[in-house]
Amino acid sequence: MAKELTMDKIVSLCKRRGFIFPACEIYGGFANAYSYGPYGVELKNNIKKLWWKKFVQDRPDIVGIDGPILLHPKLWEASGHVGGFNDAMVDCKKCKKRFRADHIVEDATGKDMEGDLAGMSKVLAEGKIKCPNCGASDWTEARTFNMMFKTEMNGITDEEGKSIPVYLRPETAGAIFVDFKNVLDSMRVKVPFGIAQIGKAFRNEIVAGNFIFRLREFEQMEIEYFISPEAKWEPLFEQWLKWQEEFALEIGARKENISRYEHPKEKLSHYSKKTIDTMYNFPFGIKELYGIAHRSDFDLTQHAKFSGQKLEYLDPETGKRYVPHVLEPTFGVDRSVLVALLAAYDEEATGEETRTVMKFPKSIAPIKAAVFPLLKNKPELVEKAKEIFDTLKTSFVCEFDDNGNIGKRYRRQDEIGTPYCVTVDFETLEDKAVTVRDRDTMKQERVKIEELEKYLSEKLK
Ligand code: ATP
Repeated sequence: MAKELTMDKIVSLCKRRGFIFPACEIYGGFANAYSYGPYGVELKNNIKKLWWKKFVQDRPDIVGIDGPILLHPKLWEASGHVGGFNDAMVDCKKCKKRFRADHIVEDATGKDMEGDLAGMSKVLAEGKIKCPNCGASDWTEARTFNMMFKTEMNGITDEEGKSIPVYLRPETAGAIFVDFKNVLDSMRVKVPFGIAQIGKAFRNEIVAGNFIFRLREFEQMEIEYFISPEAKWEPLFEQWLKWQEEFALEIGARKENISRYEHPKEKLSHYSKKTIDTMYNFPFGIKELYGIAHRSDFDLTQHAKFSGQKLEYLDPETGKRYVPHVLEPTFGVDRSVLVALLAAYDEEATGEETRTVMKFPKSIAPIKAAVFPLLKNKPELVEKAKEIFDTLKTSFVCEFDDNGNIGKRYRRQDEIGTPYCVTVDFETLEDKAVTVRDRDTMKQERVKIEELEKYLSEKLK
């Protein structure tokens, strides 16, 4: 177990080992944006695959869609985003740095004043809260800032032919609601049922930061789970919370780092019955990992009003028509990747050295097995190792590596979290067996080549 897990350790391992790079580094970086490198993209895809399997493919009551990022501008009026998707910002008059007003106030006072602009301005004017950048206490008033990114699109104009703004979706959910009717008409879904989607979302965050925790371009995995307005929703809401926590555990999170935060009733939107966030104990504090909200029939009713279309469900048993209510469990992809990285990181003292090892759950490990010839300059070993690699790669994501001494190759695979390393040595040519090393125990086992694929399949199950 790593003594003290800092963000610096994770950020530096991610860069050194090809998980995550600062984007546009050659231009001096850009707006806290990051690129997923070769191992990062495998890790992220594995997390998305695990989620899709758990919540879509394994469930008869949930179907998936993949909608566009640029959607009809009316959608965001109906959803309330044009008018109200705001955060509060405040500037330090001395150093001109900009902050989230509610974060600055909460960090200093412990009070959550989100939404109370006047209250936050009053607290800031008292002069006790210092600028985290320069230490001054000279603030502007807190004011609201709409977080949607705007762009233009050919042919999207008002009656006078003037371009009107088109928005990059700030959440994936919008695309789900506008496809509600198409899913009802094309699939044999019956309430309760869910529509799931994974995709990019964009928010012009006032301050992005904490590595990939708060980005301006990020990915979400969301479900709109439609229920009858008369259904007893509380047990289902609790069940969804448990499924969210279960998913966090499946990507490696430890139970003791997971907690819940229920949004106070007075802070909920008028239509919401309950919102609970699944929190995670990050090195920079306990912060939101996932969320779930009961959104009543707000979205479907609004979209029906703005589109002029009926968005109702006809209950085949009772013959009654109604607008379903909805539970909205939402999962951040990038925050899931961050949790997987943090939870996997371990440092072990091995003699004089410290071994850094990423103990990912095998299902999300970027590479499942690495194949090495013991020596690079022995063609018969290299050839055999390549042959084994070619066979294994049809079943698992594998890597072939003949670079550097074997100890270095093991260390590299430990740092990218590869569960098994397979080494071809001189004995292999005689006994037709290889050495398989386990990432976590470092134990080595001799396995016959003809049994290798089956052996690894069972271990990786
Ligand atoms: P926060 O309070 O941290 O800003 P939020 O409550 O606005 O988050 P939601 O609107 O509930 O977030 O979004 C659903 C999920 O999307 C979050 O639980 C989180 O995992 C992820 N998410 C939201 N904003 C960001 C962001 N800027 N960068 C990365 N992930 C994000």
